[in-house]
Amino acid sequence: MTFHATTAGVPRIGPDRELKKALEAYWRDSATGRDLAGTATRLVNDYTDGLVNEGLDSAPFQGRSYYDAILDTSAILGALPERVADISDHENDGLPQFIDRLFAAARGTAELPASAMTKWFDTNYHYIVPELSADQEFRLEDGAWLDDIRDQVNRHGDKVRPVLVGPFTYLALARSTDGSNPLEHLESLFETYGRLLPRIADRGVTWLQLDEPSLVTDVDPATLSRVKAGYKKLTQLAHDAGLKLLVQTYYGDADQAIKTLSGLGIDAFGADLVAGGKELPNWTGEELLVAGVVDGRNIWRTDLDAALETLKALAERGPVAVSTSASLLHVPYTLSRETTLSDELRSWLAFGEEKIREVALLSRVLRGEGTEADEKALAEAREAVQSRATSKLTHNDEVRERTAKITEEDRHRGDIEERRKAQQEELNLPPLPTTTIGSFPQTTQIRQARAKLRKGEITEEQYTQAMRDEIADVIERQEKLDLDVLVHGEPERNDMVQYFSEQLEGYHSTEHAWVQSYGSRCVRPPILFGDVRRPEPMTVSWFEEAQKLTDKPVKGMLTGPVTMLAWSFVRDDQPLGETADQVALALRDEIDDLVSAGAKVVQVDEPAIRELLPLREAEQPAYLKWAVGSFRLATSGVAPKTQIHTHMCYSEFNELIGTVGDLDADVTSIEAARNGMQVLAALHEAGYDLGVGPGVWDIHSPRVPKQEEVDQLLADALANVAPELLWVNPDCGLKTRGWEETTASLEVLVDAAKKARATL
Ligand code: GLN
Ligand code: ZN
Repeated sequence: MTFHATTAGVPRIGPDRELKKALEAYWRDSATGRDLAGTATRLVNDYTDGLVNEGLDSAPFQGRSYYDAILDTSAILGALPERVADISDHENDGLPQFIDRLFAAARGTAELPASAMTKWFDTNYHYIVPELSADQEFRLEDGAWLDDIRDQVNRHGDKVRPVLVGPFTYLALARSTDGSNPLEHLESLFETYGRLLPRIADRGVTWLQLDEPSLVTDVDPATLSRVKAGYKKLTQLAHDAGLKLLVQTYYGDADQAIKTLSGLGIDAFGADLVAGGKELPNWTGEELLVAGVVDGRNIWRTDLDAALETLKALAERGPVAVSTSASLLHVPYTLSRETTLSDELRSWLAFGEEKIREVALLSRVLRGEGTEADEKALAEAREAVQSRATSKLTHNDEVRERTAKITEEDRHRGDIEERRKAQQEELNLPPLPTTTIGSFPQTTQIRQARAKLRKGEITEEQYTQAMRDEIADVIERQEKLDLDVLVHGEPERNDMVQYFSEQLEGYHSTEHAWVQSYGSRCVRPPILFGDVRRPEPMTVSWFEEAQKLTDKPVKGMLTGPVTMLAWSFVRDDQPLGETADQVALALRDEIDDLVSAGAKVVQVDEPAIRELLPLREAEQPAYLKWAVGSFRLATSGVAPKTQIHTHMCYSEFNELIGTVGDLDADVTSIEAARNGMQVLAALHEAGYDLGVGPGVWDIHSPRVPKQEEVDQLLADALANVAPELLWVNPDCGLKTRGWEETTASLEVLVDAAKKARATL
C-alpha cells in the first residue's frame, strides 16, 4: 500500500492553545491530570480527523505529545535523565506513567535542575536536549505511545503513520553528561529501534516515519556509513515485521540523505523541496518520494503551478506523494479566524489548514483526478501569486530607490580610536561602567494597562500616562542603584519584535496565529509581507520621557534587522538580505531621531543572529555577510561620539566570535554567566578589541546571585578583557523578573563593579 498525500508533521498546542492552558493548570494542580489527558486526546483526534477529511491518505501521528517530541523520544527510550528517576510514577488518569518525570526533566523541580533546552535547527522552536552518559542504556517505555497509536488506528486504520525522531538525529542532538560522544550509542540505539518495530506493527499500522533532519547538516563520511549500516539492518527488521519505512528530512537539501540511504530497501524518502534543491540527483526512483512542495515553515500560499511542474518532473522518474516541506508545527492553525487582514493580503496566505488543502489538491491534480473545484482553486492561486508579485503592498518605489542607493560607505563607521576618544569625552564614564540590557520587570500592572487599552477600558492618554509613570519609577530606581548608563525599561513593549512591527509599514500583526515555541510557550510572529517603511518615529517620545528625568545617559533601545526577520513570517519573494536592509534603513532613521533627541548611546539588540545561521558551513559566509551588513547599515549613520551597543544571548557563542567583531558595535553585551564566562577566552583569542559586557548575573533564574559569585565572575572577566573595554551588566533583559530580586541582584552587581574599580 502506498500513499499520495500527507504532511511531514503536525502541531499539538491546539488552535486556541488548549494544550497550553491544560498544561499550566496541571502544573499548578496535579489533580487536573484527567483534563490534561482529555484535552490532548481531543486535540490529536481532531487533527487526525481533519487531515483525513481533507483527503490526505496518510496521517502522521506522534502520539499525544505533552511538551516536546525529542523529550517524548527520551521517555519512550527510557533515557530521561537519571536524576528524575526517583520521581514516582503517575497513577492512571490517562496520562503516561512517566509524565511527572518528563515534566521534571523539561522544567526542573524545586530541587532538580531542568535539562538544557535549545533551538531546533534554524527555527524558533526549542527542544529538550537529551542527556546521555557513556554507559547509557535504552529500555523501552513505549506502552503509552503504543496505546495512543492503537487508539488512532481504531479511528483511521492504517492511514495512521506513527512518527519518531530517527536514531541518528536523536543522538546528534544529544549532549553527554561525562564528556563521551553520544554518537557512540548509534549501533545500540538502532538495535533498540529494531526491538520497537514489531511492537508498532502489532498495533495495526503499515508505515512508520523516522525523522532524520540532522542528515541535511554537515555529516562526516565515517558517520554517514555507520548511519547507512544502521538503516540497512533496521529496514530488514521493519520488513520482517511487515512495516514500511519512511525516512523524512527537512530544513535543507535531502540529497545527502538519499545518497546515503538509497538502495537499502527503505520504502520512502521525505524531502524538503522548499529549503533544499528540487532535483535530488541521487534519487533513482526506486523509493517513493514524499515531495515537500508546500512550505511547512512559512505562511505564503503555494504557487500551485510551479509546484505541479516540480511534481510532474519528479513523477516521471518514480513514484511521488505530495507533502509539506516540514512539520506544520511551525505555522498557525487556520487563516479563517483572522479578521483584520485585508482581502489582498489574505489572498496571499495559507496557514496550516489551507496548506493541507493545497497538498490534497496537488495530489489529486497530479494523479489526473482534479475536480472542477480544483481547477477553480488553481486559477485563484494563480491570480494571488500574480497580485502579490505586482502589488503596491509589496513594492514601494520610495523604499526601493533608497535601497538601490546604499553604498559600502553606508556600512562603515570609521576609525575606532577616534570613536573611543569622542565617546569618552561625550559620556565621561567611570571604568567598568554598569548598565542593564533594556527591559525592567513587566509587572501585572503594566500588562493590565495594555489589556485595558485593548479592550477600550482606558484611553490612549491614560495608557501613555501609565507608561510614563513606569518610566519615572524605573529611572528613579536606577539612580538609586547608582547604575551608570540607564534605560527607560521598555514598559510599552508587549514584545521586542511585535512592538516595532506594529509601527512599520510592510508588517501585519495577527490575532490568533500562535505557534509553539517550547512546552506551553507560544509566540505570535507578525507577517512581514511588503517593503518596510517607517512612517514616523517609534521610540523617541519614550526615550525623551526618560532622558529628561536624569543627567545620566539613557540608552535608546531598538531591535536589530536580523531579529526583526527571524521572529516574523518573512516574505519569500526576495532575498532575506534585501528585506533586512529595508528594516535597517528604518532603524537607521530611528537612530538618527534618537540622537537628535539627545541619545548618546543607542543599543540595537540582535539576540537571534545565531538562530538564522545556515545549517551547512558552506552557506554560512553568505548569511553572515548580509546579516552583519544590515546591522552595520542600521548603525553606521551616527557620528563617532555616539556609542552603539548591541546585545546577544545564546550559549554556543564560539562559532560566531568573528561576527561579534564584524558588527563593529562599540559595546556588545552577551550572555555569559550560565556557561562560566567561556565566551571570554574565545573573545580573547580572537583578539577582540571593542567594548564587551559579559553578563555577570544569570537572569533566567529567580535566584539573587551571591556577592562572591559576581565578584568572581568579574575577576574572571578582568583576567581576559582589558579593563578599559569591560562593562558590567546582567545576562539579558529583566522583563520576566520581579522587582525584589531585580533590585537585590543589581545592588550586588553595582557593588562588585565599584570594588573592582577601586583595585584598578
Ligand atoms: N532589550 C531587550 C530586553 O531587555 C533584549 C531582549 C533579548 O535579548 N531577548 O528585554
Ligand atoms: Zn538577551
